[in-house]
Amino acid sequence: MIHQDILQRSMEKAQEVLDISFNLREAGVKADYLQRDDFWQQLVGEQGYMMFHPEVEADLVPEFRDVSKDDIHELEHVYNRLPYGRDQVAHLRFQVAQKLVESINTEHLLQNTVPNKVMSYIEAYCIAIHNDTAKEAKSYRSPKLSKLLVKLFGEKSETVKWYTTKCPKNLDSGLLKEWTITISILPHHIAGMSYYAAANHGGDKWIEGWNGTSCMDTKRNGIGSGVFQLVPSMRDVTMAVAYLSRSEDKDVWNPVYQARALLRVVHIHGEPHFLICRPYFTSRKTRHILIEGLKNAFPNAHYTGDMRSFDGEGVQFRVEYPKNIELEVDKEFVCPDCEGDGFMGYDQYNEPVDCETCHGEGRWHIDDSFLPYIDDHDFIIVNHDEIIFKLPVKYFASKGVDLNRPEKKPKRRFRFFNPLVGRSDVEPEPVQVEELVADIEDIRQELAVREAEVEMDAMEDWLRRAWAYVGADE
Ligand SMILES: [Zn+2]
Repeated sequence: MIHQDILQRSMEKAQEVLDISFNLREAGVKADYLQRDDFWQQLVGEQGYMMFHPEVEADLVPEFRDVSKDDIHELEHVYNRLPYGRDQVAHLRFQVAQKLVESINTEHLLQNTVPNKVMSYIEAYCIAIHNDTAKEAKSYRSPKLSKLLVKLFGEKSETVKWYTTKCPKNLDSGLLKEWTITISILPHHIAGMSYYAAANHGGDKWIEGWNGTSCMDTKRNGIGSGVFQLVPSMRDVTMAVAYLSRSEDKDVWNPVYQARALLRVVHIHGEPHFLICRPYFTSRKTRHILIEGLKNAFPNAHYTGDMRSFDGEGVQFRVEYPKNIELEVDKEFVCPDCEGDGFMGYDQYNEPVDCETCHGEGRWHIDDSFLPYIDDHDFIIVNHDEIIFKLPVKYFASKGVDLNRPEKKPKRRFRFFNPLVGRSDVEPEPVQVEELVADIEDIRQELAVREAEVEMDAMEDWLRRAWAYVGADE
């Protein structure tokens, strides 16, 4: 359990963060909080958070191989489809792509260079007798990897998209002491999941968020309705926050999130696993450090980005919330910028100018109910009383977890046969057994039942098991 004083201080801080939003403040939204799942409690202890330096391996090759797999298949397919003699160029293209995948290393990806082995292979073809092939090979001659990828796979291919937008351009490896990852269940870290984005505290913008942070930011989205989701998020017992900060910004009371991801714990066959949900980040490098740092530190951490590359069957795991965690809002808000008249003065032609905040409406109404914030709707569904995880079987199999394995201890039930309603399940309530026996005996005596030739065997089987159950110790 989080120490009472720390929790108290964090709740006050959470309220401050919520009150930054005009909507939340006007609606009188109070910060509240439900104690987290035991897994998080044990991990973070009395402090409510834990910190560590990320250890990151600079190995981009598996990701490159994974991303380019389909593009290479496509090249092979094209080459196989062409009639013999017309396939020289397609053959060369496929061969170069294969050589590239075999010989590329992380340095090549970081430095944007083509491996020497591939270069000499290409050179050999430049002097080929076949004109078209030589011409094609010459067009591959640039030592820049990005150029070769465009040539081989095309500008719109997944490989080129990944290389230009996702692959980090520089990467440190080993234990990175200048960076710190914090895992926290403290209320203010959850309420501030986007308010503490670097851009609000003198740093860089988050590049895949909204408006430099995200729509959960009480500062930049203060009149948005999305921010109401922060309160149910504080009640979501499965959720924790992971953030990356520079080690000099270690103050947990004034954090700066260079990258941030929500974490959610799910128990699979009694073992805790957690999902690293879609991250927000200032650069590809900070994203890489946060995600890889978490994955390296916790073998039971699963990044939704990795899970997404495995399709096929999924298995659902459900966590019941201890109470209804929904937040209801029904309120009329008067625009703070025009004080309700929707008017902002006159332009140079003496025409009235509408207030930008409320589009000249002067006020807005929010009548809605809100649930915790979810980034990965393909894996997580949330309701007022439960959260459901739909997990991909193949991905977990690759991590040695068999999702289809039956739960260890199925709830003890026994089947019984009632001639009037058929078979059904009954909770093992020993007190009921005698009543049921009497009931069945009555039914047995009824003429209609006898005439219908009810399955007496089944009934006797049931009686045998019912008596065995009464004799059994729980
Ligand atoms: Zn207005």
